[in-house]
Amino acid sequence: MAEEFDVVIVGGGITGSAMGIVLARTGVRVKILERDKVYQDRVRGEWMASWGVKELQRLGLADILTDAGGIFVNRFIPYDENMPPEKAEDFAFDIPGLTPDLPPTLCMGHPAMCETLNQAAIAAGASVNRGVKSIKVQSGNEPSVSYRLEDADVTLRPKLIVGADGRNSVVQRQLEFEMRQDPPHNLLGGMLVEGKTSWPQDAFTAGTEGNIHFLIFPQGEDRLRLYLCYDFDDRARFTGPDREKNLLQAFRLKCLPMGEEIAQCKPISAFHSYSNEDHWTENPTKPGVVLIGDAAGHCDPITGQGLSIGLRDVRIVSDILAAGDWSEAAFEPYVDERLDRMRRLRFAGQFVTKLRAEFGEDARQRRARASRRTNVEGYPSPNPSALIGPEVLPAEFFEQKTIDALMAP
Ligand SMILES: Cc1cc2nc3c(=O)[nH]c(=O)nc-3n(C[C@H](O)[C@H](O)[C@H](O)COP(=O)(O)OP(=O)(O)OC[C@H]3O[C@@H](n4cnc5c(N)ncnc54)[C@H](O)[C@@H]3O)c2cc1C
Repeated sequence: MAEEFDVVIVGGGITGSAMGIVLARTGVRVKILERDKVYQDRVRGEWMASWGVKELQRLGLADILTDAGGIFVNRFIPYDENMPPEKAEDFAFDIPGLTPDLPPTLCMGHPAMCETLNQAAIAAGASVNRGVKSIKVQSGNEPSVSYRLEDADVTLRPKLIVGADGRNSVVQRQLEFEMRQDPPHNLLGGMLVEGKTSWPQDAFTAGTEGNIHFLIFPQGEDRLRLYLCYDFDDRARFTGPDREKNLLQAFRLKCLPMGEEIAQCKPISAFHSYSNEDHWTENPTKPGVVLIGDAAGHCDPITGQGLSIGLRDVRIVSDILAAGDWSEAAFEPYVDERLDRMRRLRFAGQFVTKLRAEFGEDARQRRARASRRTNVEGYPSPNPSALIGPEVLPAEFFEQKTIDALMAP
């Protein structure tokens, strides 16, 4: 007779495996179905914002990642063409302490994070299958999941299916969740590199020079994750056989003192790029099914929110399940909170896109004005929400008039 499970999670990435650990720890019989036998580097999140680290701590998962090599990154240096490097270093700030109890950010390789959490789910008592194919899901009062594993066809009938299978979610598609998206804003590409540089392993940066928005995150030892955000018009420069070389050379920037050292680094991963846009849904639940993480809709990755969003989903959904009512109505607080959370993060992300990933002289001046108004003149800005959490700032920070005031000539 087939084993019985209370919850089947489709997708054993960071969100799915974290959910598996939390449920298994409370005695829920949980199965995780993961497509990949080996986690691939597809260029995904490797920097977790402080509010995500806070979620990780609340879920009791932070030590699992730091014990496996995750590093805390405390400092932000605002390198940008609008100021010389020494001035950017003077303006560098520590993230812990921005708000009470705010932890630092955390960096770790994405495949390593997936593997570590997936192993921890097994250790907590979750049943995990990797290499699962041909998933078919049905919602309803008696939901079901069918799949192929090795040569066997399997069907499970849990009480609840959790769709955690990422941005191309089959659960989302098969059950015809109504998704919305805005037009693509630009392209974002990334690559892992190694080499001796003087980049401080406790700091990250995000800035703009010329027609690129660059981001640098330390990954421990001699490794750095580099991301570049650029216009669709610039696509040819970062495709084809020279794309890795061109990405490295793009870091030779006047505003970046270690740019030359970074350009000498060796690529140690593939370079993938993606179009940046927001995807969301008014309701990530159906009878017997709840979507979490990217499967439930994701923000433009420019502000690096996906990992934090997924972990908050895990906390809210697992708290609801722990309260014992697993009906669709019980998930309403999750539906409402997520909708407003994604709206605020989308708003902040679109502001950052306009500020940092639109290029040219007018855009440079606008960025300088907005930066002065926020940092010197004390104008409200939605920007810190990407570090401290979407719920912390007052509602009016997420209104168009706030952005208009920051951007005005
Ligand atoms: C270029 C880029 C940069 C980013 N940078 C950041 C960042 O710095 N910080 C940040 O917080 N976020 C970042 N993100 C977003 C972040 O990577 C995602 O939000 C996060 O990975 C979502 O986690 P997830 O577990 O929901 O989905 P995923 O990480 O996509 O995991 C889904 C899992 O489901 C599995 N799966 C897929 N289909 C099936 C199937 N049919 N059956 C079974 N299993 C399946 C996959 O193999 C995978 O393991 C970035 C995204 C991109 C594209």
